[in-house]
Amino acid sequence: ITMDPQAVCYVAGHRGLVGSALWRNLKNAGFTSLIGESSADLDLRNRDEVFTYMSHHRPRYVILAAAKVGGILANSTSPVDFLSDNLRIQLNVMDAAVALRVERLLFLGSSCIYPKFAPQPIPESALMSGYLEPSNEAYAVAKIAGITAVNAARKQYGLPWISAMPTNLYGTGDNFTQGKSHVLPALISRYHDAVFQGLDEVVNWGTGTPRREFLHADDAASACIHLLEHYDGESPVNIGSGTDLSIKELAELVATTVGYTGTTSWDVQKPDGTPQKLLDTSLVTSLGWRPRITLEDGIATTYQWFRENLGALR
Ligand code: GDP
Repeated sequence: ITMDPQAVCYVAGHRGLVGSALWRNLKNAGFTSLIGESSADLDLRNRDEVFTYMSHHRPRYVILAAAKVGGILANSTSPVDFLSDNLRIQLNVMDAAVALRVERLLFLGSSCIYPKFAPQPIPESALMSGYLEPSNEAYAVAKIAGITAVNAARKQYGLPWISAMPTNLYGTGDNFTQGKSHVLPALISRYHDAVFQGLDEVVNWGTGTPRREFLHADDAASACIHLLEHYDGESPVNIGSGTDLSIKELAELVATTVGYTGTTSWDVQKPDGTPQKLLDTSLVTSLGWRPRITLEDGIATTYQWFRENLGALR
C-alpha cells in the first residue's frame, strides 16, 4: 500500500509515549506534512473542536494514538474517566474521519482488550472469547468499541482502516508518576529514588509473579508504519516483542540498571491484574516486521532519558 509522504498525516496524541515515537519515526521515514496538537490546544473529547480542526486540515491519513491511559491503579480507581474519555476521543476523531473519507486510519488499542484467561501467547482471534480483567475493563471495552468503529467504517464506506494492539509499551517520554504510571516507569523512578535517598528497601506492588511482555515505543511506532504500508484487513494486529518475563524478573533488571543493591519486597494488598499477557505476534511478523530494541537496551536508554529529564517529567 503506497503512502504519499507529502500527504497531510494527523497524529492524534503526538505528545504521548507512542504518538511522540510515531512522530519521530514518520519524520525519519520522510513524512513532511505531519500535524498534531497538544491536548491544551485541542480537546479531543470535544466533538466540535475535533470536527473544526479536522475539516480545516483535511488529513489524508490519521493515526489515532490519543487516549487516556494509566497503570493498573489509575484504571481501577477512575473507570468512568477511562471509559468516557476514550470513547469520546475515538468516536469524535473517527466520525470526523468518516465525514472526510480519510484514506488510511490506524487505531491504536492495547493488549488488555483480550480476555483475562486467554490462551498464551494471545492470538488476535481471542478477542471477545471470554471475560475481561476487571481492573481495566472500562478501558478495554472502550478500545474494543474502537476496533468495531474501524471495521464499521470498512464495511459501510469501504475505507481501508486498520487497528493495532500493542503490548505493554515503555520508552522516553513515558509517565513516571507513582500511582499513575505503568510498571516499568514506576520501577525506574522507585529504584532511582531508593539509590539517591540511600534506602535499603524497595516495596513493589502485588506478588511479582504476573508475567508481562514489554515493547519499546520506537519499535511500536515502526510496527505501525509497517502496517500502514503493508496491511489492509479487519483483524486487529498484535504488536509485541514475543517474549515475556515476571514482574519480579523485571524488577531485578531495573534494579541492576539503576545500580540498586538493597532488598525488594512485595505489597500483596496491591492488585496483580491479569496473570499473564503475552501476545501472539505471528501475524505482524508474517508481514515482515521485527522488533529491534532489546529490553536490556531499552531500559538503559529509558533510564538515561529519565535522569536527563528529571526536572521536566510529566
Ligand atoms: P497491566 O499490565 O495492565 O496490569 O499494567 P501495569 O503496568 O500497571 O502493571 C503490571 C504489573 O506490575 C501488575 O502485576 C502490578 O501489580 C505490577 N506492579 C508492581 N509494582 C508496580 C508499580 O509500582 N506500578 C504499577 N503500575 N504496577 C506495578
